[in-house]
Amino acid sequence: MDYFEESLNLHRTLKGKIRVSAKMDVRSKEDLSLVYSPGVAAPCLAIAANPDDVYKYTIKSNTVAIVTDGSAVLGLGDIGAAASIPVMEGKAMLFKRFANIDAFPICLDTQDTDKIVETVRLIAPVFGGVNLEDISAPRSFEIERRLQDLGIPVFHDDQHGTAIVTLAGLLNSCKLVGKKMEDLKVVINGAGAAGIAIARLLKAVDNPDSAYATPVKQIIICDSKGIIGRGRKDLNYAKTEVLEFTNPHDLAGSLKDALVDADVFIGVSVSNLLDRNDIATMARDSIIFAMANPIPEIMPAEAKLGGAAIVGTGRSDLPNQINNVLGFPGIFRGALDARAPRITPNMKLAAAHAIADHIRNPTLDGVIPPTLDEQVAWRVADEVRRVAEEEFGKR
Ligand code: NAP
Ligand code: MG
Repeated sequence: MDYFEESLNLHRTLKGKIRVSAKMDVRSKEDLSLVYSPGVAAPCLAIAANPDDVYKYTIKSNTVAIVTDGSAVLGLGDIGAAASIPVMEGKAMLFKRFANIDAFPICLDTQDTDKIVETVRLIAPVFGGVNLEDISAPRSFEIERRLQDLGIPVFHDDQHGTAIVTLAGLLNSCKLVGKKMEDLKVVINGAGAAGIAIARLLKAVDNPDSAYATPVKQIIICDSKGIIGRGRKDLNYAKTEVLEFTNPHDLAGSLKDALVDADVFIGVSVSNLLDRNDIATMARDSIIFAMANPIPEIMPAEAKLGGAAIVGTGRSDLPNQINNVLGFPGIFRGALDARAPRITPNMKLAAAHAIADHIRNPTLDGVIPPTLDEQVAWRVADEVRRVAEEEFGKR
């Protein structure tokens, strides 16, 4: 099938993929008097008197805003707000399908950090959570950070969703190849939204003392100019920050230099960068998650010829698909149900463990649950809600 042509037809036929629907029919004058004037005054006044009642009487508790500025959409780049709508509608469908959450695309016609932060604050009353999506690095880091005091979860999925699912895959891969997380030397290629968030989570930078943390031994992170080290004078603030917990021996050089003796390669960069000879320089039974979309940094067959034991990609037509949809629906479900004011590092780690533990007996081609497994989100939600209640109390 030609997915591009067929998808265009589908979108034209449906005129978009989601709609608002009413929870009851309005047929009689009585109905009208209840759902609208005069009866509607009662919940309005209740909320005015007690702001917390907004959770009781409105859509807030189950509604998530998917906020983008269209600056880093899929692998398509800066295509702008309107062009990003089909992606955000698709994301809303996944929220509904896997976690019964009503999510709505909010595609902003600005790429100004202050304006985005301000706008999210202004629209927050209707929403129980905010999924930041496809906003380019490093602005996405700042926008997310500045919104953590909003009182509802604000979560940039391209960062943390990816990091959580990657950690889940790595936990199960370790079991299979008989290596311990704390002994792993990891190379991450790509120092954007995904790469930096993966590094933080694998090192448990934000909660080193957590019972859920199993920080890896060493991480080297590379960008398009090679290894990120202290000698680099061209680093943005986000890349400078990762030096606090990566590259302990201050290695300089290229990705290929970094790979020598590494146990794990995580690619969140661009297609076709490595071949079997590069993989052969890594430690025995290497673990390769080559997630550049749509074409990975190295194809699985090639990586295996170099000695890789386990290979994952972002693709649905290959084994071990590392896909965010295993994470965000359940994470938001759990956070909404617990009325968590934010998504904490422990909730992220708990989500990763829940995804990993969903597979009782991992195999080389099954280190991560299948993307369409409907049970995963509910399992993740249970764990995230449990940890949120530990941290914030039951509400
Ligand atoms: P991003 O914020 O734009 O970051 C991309 C990073 O890749 C940048 O740091 C860039 O380096 C680096 N890069 C570009 N060319 C490179 C090269 N030749 N060698 C090394 N690094 C290179 O994008 P992102 O959101 O992190 O996503 C990155 C990639 O991962 C995309 O292909 C995306 O589709 C994929 N991804 C997959 C999944 C998944 O499958 N689950 C999830 C998230 C992301 P500079 O900083 O030097 O420009
Ligand atoms: Mg995205």
